[in-house]
Amino acid sequence: MRVELLCTGDELVTGLITDTNSTYLEARLFDLGVKVERVVLVGDVRPDITHALLAAASRADVVVVSGGLGPTSDDFTLECAAAAAGVPMTEDARVLGWLRERYAERGMSPNLNAGQLRMARIPQGSEPVRNPAGSAPLVILTLGRCRLFFLPGVPREYRALLDGEVLPRIRTWLEAEPGRMHRAFRLLRTVGMGESVLDQQVMPLAPSHPRVVFGFRTHAPENHLKLMAEAPSQSEADAALAAAEADCRRVLGASVFGADAEEYAAALLEKLGRAKATLAAAESCTGGLIAQQLTAVPGASSVFIGGAVVYSEKMKTAWVGVPPAVLERHTAVSRETAIAMAEGVRAACGTTYGLSVTGYAGPGGGTPEDPVGTVYCALAGAGMPTRCERITLSGDRDRVRLFAASHTLEMLRQHLLAAAATP
Ligand code: ATP
Ligand code: MG
Repeated sequence: MRVELLCTGDELVTGLITDTNSTYLEARLFDLGVKVERVVLVGDVRPDITHALLAAASRADVVVVSGGLGPTSDDFTLECAAAAAGVPMTEDARVLGWLRERYAERGMSPNLNAGQLRMARIPQGSEPVRNPAGSAPLVILTLGRCRLFFLPGVPREYRALLDGEVLPRIRTWLEAEPGRMHRAFRLLRTVGMGESVLDQQVMPLAPSHPRVVFGFRTHAPENHLKLMAEAPSQSEADAALAAAEADCRRVLGASVFGADAEEYAAALLEKLGRAKATLAAAESCTGGLIAQQLTAVPGASSVFIGGAVVYSEKMKTAWVGVPPAVLERHTAVSRETAIAMAEGVRAACGTTYGLSVTGYAGPGGGTPEDPVGTVYCALAGAGMPTRCERITLSGDRDRVRLFAASHTLEMLRQHLLAAAATP
C-alpha cells in the first residue's frame, strides 16, 4: 500500500511550528508494516494545495491530509479537494447536526455563525465522520483509486481521528491484501552506549535473523534498537522476533534498561521499589533534572524522597552539609565535593541511597584540569563506600546537563543490577 501525507498551513512553512502530525502517523503506520512514501508541506495557497492533492492522489493508494478544516478564512483545504475532484461543495446535514449538538453541549448558541457553517460544507460525494475531540469532522474522499482522509491539524484532534477512524480502516485494507505478511515488534531501550557502538554490537547478528529488520533511533541520552520481524504467519513472526531479541539482549547486557514503552525513570524507580530502597539527590550543574525526571513518574514519592538544587557553594554547605574546607581546598567541582554532596543529601533525607552531580556545563567556566564538560557524579549508600565517577562530556550546555543527569542515575541502576546479581 502506497501512503503519502500532506500537511497544510503557513505555520509549517514559515518556521513557526514543526510538523509533528506526520511523525506521529509515520510511526503508527510503520508498526503496520507501511513506510510512508512521501510527506509534503504546503502553505495556505489554494492552487498549491489543489495541485498537491492531485499529485499525491495520482501516486498513492491512501493520502492523509492535515490542517485547514477549521472555521477561519484561511481554512480551505476541503474547497481545494472539491476543486481537485471537480465537484461542488455542499452543506451536509449530518455535520450540521453534530456541530449543533457540540455547541449545545458547551452551552453555546445553536445558531451557527458563518465560520461555523463553513465546517458543515464538504465536497459532494465525500463521507464525513464525527470528530470526538473537536468540531471539524474527518472527511473521506475517493479520487480515482486513491482514498484521501482530511483531518483537522490540531494534534489532539488529528490523533484521536487517526487512532479511532483512519488507522482501523487502513488495517482492514492491509489485511485484505493478497499474500500479506504478519509482523511482530520489539523496542529495546539502551543507555550509556553510543549509537555507533550499539550498531557495531548488534549488526553482526543481523545475518542470522533474515526475517528481522534492525532499526536504530537516537533519543538522547538513550539509543533504541527497533526489531521488526516479518513472516507469513503470526507465530513465525513472533518466533523470529523472540530469537533476535534474545541474541541482542545477550550482546547488549545491562545497557538495555527497558523494552517497548518502558521509560528509564519508571524502570529505575521500579527497581528501587523492589529493593525496598529510597533515594535522594543533590544536584548542582543539572539544576533539578534528576528530580524532574523521577517525579515525572506517577507514584515516585514512595521511592524518591526529595532532592536539593545546591547551585551555590553556600547552599552546598547549608543544605547538604558540604564542609566549607572541602569546597575551599577542592572547589565545588571535585570528587570530594561530589562525595560530600551524595553523603550529605542521603543523611539529610534519611534514604537508602544518595546521588549527587556537580560539573561544568559551560559554555564558560572550567579549569585546565577540569575543563567545560567535566562532571563528577557520586552514589552513597548504606554499608558501601561512596563511589564517585569523573566523566567528560562534549556538546553544548543542554547536552552536558542531560548526559550528566543520565550518567548519575545510571550509577545507581548499575549498582542495583550488580547488587541483585550477588546473592
Ligand atoms: P482549527 O480548527 O484550529 O483552525 P484546522 O484543521 O484548520 O484547525 P490548522 O488551522 O491548520 O487546522 O491548524 C491548527 C493548529 O494545529 C495549528 O495552529 C498548529 O498549532 C497545529 N498544527 C497544524 N498542523 C500541524 C502539524 N502538521 N503538526 C503539528 N501541529 C500542527
Ligand atoms: Mg485552521
